Amino acid sequence: MPAYDVLIIGAGLAGQRAAIAAAKTGATIAILSKVHPVRSHSVAAAGGINAAISPVDDWRSHAYDTIKGSDFLGDQDAIEIMCREAPAEVMWLEHAGVTFHRNQKGEMDLRAFGGASMKRTAYVADITGQALLHVLYEQLMKYHEVIDRYEEWFVTSLITNEGACVGAVAREIRSGKIETFTAKSVILASGGAGQCFQPTTNALICTGDGIAQAYQIGAPLMDMEMVQYHPTTLAENGFLITEGARGEGAHLLNSEGERFMEKYAPNKMELASRDVVSRAEQTEILEGRGVGPDKQGIYLDITVVPRKRTLEALREIVNIGKDFAGVDITREPIIIQPGMHYMMGGVKTDFNGATEVPGLYAAGEVACVSVHGGNRLGANSLLDTLIFGRRSGEHAAERALAMQMPAASDEQLIHDREMIAEILARLKSGRRISEIKQELGTTMNRYAAVYRDEAGLQSAHEVVRRLKEEAKTVYVDDKGAVFNQDLLGAIELDYMLDCAETIVVAALERKESRGAQFRTDYPERNDAQWLKHIDVSRNGGDVPKISYSEVTITDWQPEARTY
Ligand SMILES: Cc1cc2nc3c(=O)[nH]c(=O)nc-3n(C[C@H](O)[C@H](O)[C@H](O)COP(=O)(O)OP(=O)(O)OC[C@H]3O[C@@H](n4cnc5c(N)ncnc54)[C@H](O)[C@@H]3O)c2cc1C
Repeated sequence: MPAYDVLIIGAGLAGQRAAIAAAKTGATIAILSKVHPVRSHSVAAAGGINAAISPVDDWRSHAYDTIKGSDFLGDQDAIEIMCREAPAEVMWLEHAGVTFHRNQKGEMDLRAFGGASMKRTAYVADITGQALLHVLYEQLMKYHEVIDRYEEWFVTSLITNEGACVGAVAREIRSGKIETFTAKSVILASGGAGQCFQPTTNALICTGDGIAQAYQIGAPLMDMEMVQYHPTTLAENGFLITEGARGEGAHLLNSEGERFMEKYAPNKMELASRDVVSRAEQTEILEGRGVGPDKQGIYLDITVVPRKRTLEALREIVNIGKDFAGVDITREPIIIQPGMHYMMGGVKTDFNGATEVPGLYAAGEVACVSVHGGNRLGANSLLDTLIFGRRSGEHAAERALAMQMPAASDEQLIHDREMIAEILARLKSGRRISEIKQELGTTMNRYAAVYRDEAGLQSAHEVVRRLKEEAKTVYVDDKGAVFNQDLLGAIELDYMLDCAETIVVAALERKESRGAQFRTDYPERNDAQWLKHIDVSRNGGDVPKISYSEVTITDWQPEARTY
């Protein structure tokens, strides 16, 4: 049975950063990933990473913008840490080999991004995530003597002993072998749950596994109602068109050719916070000023950006436009719409990544620190993965080095092995995984999107409860042990349904409008009653239990939010 000081689940930016930080302490480390690490969703990040690097910038300005962006739901102590530590982290990346874009003077170039009071986003064209992830992977391999990599291993459960997390059960995807991993500290870095929605900008692997696994062992989730709809996703399939496009100056136009953001955010225009821009677009669409065949889109006009600059700094979306919409974005506008993009909520942690379950840490999109509160600013997530990935790695290792190896029984392994056997033995009478997933995604996109109300959320909850029952009998065609992705799909479906239920329950609970949650039946922000986090945890059985926690306020009192 493998045993490690620190077990890291997930090898995107958060997991790899945690592993490198933990390795420096001398701890023994395992990092597990259900896909090859460089195929983690972090590789898709496009626009960049924020840090107050410019000599005329200040981390306090970054912190204020982040707090305002969060609609005052972000915890200010954690935000201060993130923004203060950002410049050194970006410099560390640059020294490790990330080829950040430079300006004519040879300095690191910064681009404008939404909700920011100045240019603060470091970038590598529009492949920033890929550039970062590959450099981290090179660094990870340098530590091969202390870090064991388990690539294409799928974690099925976390293991507890007397209330503490002491390891995980994982299946080797190549062989079907299942093992118990014992660990003194476990770091969840398994990414978000975007696949609960259809369409989404998120990769197929973003199925909320870690959020559901932590929930299953009793760790509270926080801010789950806060789901970010990105203003510019491709109308046909949900692909992301980076905010970098608007950062470079692109306009949003309605069917009348108006730059309608003038009405909604006269100062920041297209570069207001994402929730504000997505809501503005949706309002234009609902009021009949949408574009495209079904009038459900908005024009993103990138032709106003000099063509040379677009080809240099936005080359991926030039390709996406050509390949997936048949549009040359340097010559004509492209049709976009708001689309599900990011989970502000996740496993509740403190600013060292510790959850409420001893021994369990979480970092990256799976976690909720909460630095994003009600709405994340673009280019703050890559930063979040790295800062809190590193801090989790350090703190998890420190804890581990001061204790004995705990005992992890094989009880969970036996349970998971039986669960897999039961799924494989199912008859063809149930629904297909893809059907349930599609119904879940379209339901969430209909009722838990930019605009929400009580009746819609109730309908979503009923559908999710029914789908949970139906998921118990989904059948898989592949009965084999080798690369059985069909089987993993059935397990992921359960995770998505747990995540979706907690999103809907929290959205029903928050009877106000703040950040990404806009309730048409409660259209105002209500600080007197709702300036608090909603925590959701498992209530013994299967029913989410709600409690609240305070928002930490340091220097910035809530105020009206305009852009
Ligand atoms: C298209 C797109 C563009 C984006 N652009 C930007 C941007 O420009 N700037 C920015 O700041 N943010 C951006 N974001 C957000 C940001 O990229 C993500 O929030 C961030 O990269 C998440 O990193 P992570 O390490 O938490 O998770 P991920 O990179 O998603 O990695 C999750 C890891 O967990 C593993 N895993 C999951 N479940 C299991 C399991 N059951 N067993 C074993 N392993 C498991 C996966 O294999 C993977 O290695 C973008 C997101 C998308 C979708």
